[in-house]
Amino acid sequence: MNKLLDKLRGRNADLKQRILGLCLQGDQAIADISKELGASIPTATKLVSELIEDGFLVDMGKQHGTSGGRRPSFYGLNPEAGPIVGVEVGRESISLVIIDFKGQVLARRENIRFRLESTPESFRSLTDVIRAQVRTLGFSLSDVLACGITLSGRVNAASGFSFTYFISEGRPLTDLLSERLGVPVFIENDSRAMAYGEYLGSRLQSEKNVLFFNVSWGLGMGMIIDGKLHYGKSGFSGEIGHIPFLSNDIVCQCGKVGCLETGASGCAAHRILLERLQEGRGSVLDKPFRTKGDFTLDEVIAAVLDEDVLAIEVMEEIGATLGKAIAGTINIFNPDLVILGGRLSEVGDYLTLPVKTAISKHSLNMVSKDTRLLVSRLGRSAGPIGACLLSRSRMLGLL
Ligand SMILES: [Zn+2]
Repeated sequence: MNKLLDKLRGRNADLKQRILGLCLQGDQAIADISKELGASIPTATKLVSELIEDGFLVDMGKQHGTSGGRRPSFYGLNPEAGPIVGVEVGRESISLVIIDFKGQVLARRENIRFRLESTPESFRSLTDVIRAQVRTLGFSLSDVLACGITLSGRVNAASGFSFTYFISEGRPLTDLLSERLGVPVFIENDSRAMAYGEYLGSRLQSEKNVLFFNVSWGLGMGMIIDGKLHYGKSGFSGEIGHIPFLSNDIVCQCGKVGCLETGASGCAAHRILLERLQEGRGSVLDKPFRTKGDFTLDEVIAAVLDEDVLAIEVMEEIGATLGKAIAGTINIFNPDLVILGGRLSEVGDYLTLPVKTAISKHSLNMVSKDTRLLVSRLGRSAGPIGACLLSRSRMLGLL
């Protein structure tokens, strides 16, 4: 454990944690801190001074307060407290972001080649890649406060075990990763990290109920309910991709049949396009298909953006199925906001328009009329930024 966090132990640690929790949402004035904590102004002032002395907070100067009148001093997280690393581990590549303690992105690398397999070699390669990339970006792991890593599938962030990739017996995966990297490591499900990154990183905190759909190779969902990330009992909530939604007899990667993911995800787009090409339909994807026998999800996205008619048709099909499922979740959750994220969301209107049409067709108007549909603002950075922000919250004991 790093020295900074040692300072958060001892007297009034819980109150100090709560102050840091408030500052995660933005800079705070003493009067607001005192009100939120139910503590006197002198107590709040003393705790803030100690947090400044320990390096967690800095005086941001006088700003306009909530109550008008004299401008009070505001206090915010100290960007200099130390860097935090966030890593999104995909099937074929990883993305890495480094933020300062206040949440500002300091450096990022996308599409770093990496093959995700549940093997000891792949595990070693992951930690080697992280170590090398952090160094290349000009940082030293010894200065890093924490590292957050996202994985797809079943991940229990609280216990640190992953049940889909890098399944470790006896010891949490987080312990094994911390040992290899020499920094505290936290793991999280990819869709949940993206939801958190988008929520906190795009400053959407005025919305209390948000559903984030991660449409990448698979399909997942992250939920913010009453302003809090929803985990469920064992941390496995949000597995919307594996609800039995379709009567298509297609075996899903989870082993079951007819999962939503088999008709509304990147792997569904890949399968349908492959079938259409085999039937002789024309497309720009015909070239990689003939030369390599396959094509990647990035090539599918490029084909759609290149106005390839077949690829656009497949987006419409997938969007219609996805929108129907989203309509169901809107009926259940009555959310403020639905965000379409993940790699496939990069095709923009080609996916969002059929999704919108299906939502109008299949949801109860009374329930869905107040729900806004947005495309992820952070795009490919949502996952690694979410991993950074989640590990910061976990490190401070706020999750
Ligand atoms: Zn499934």
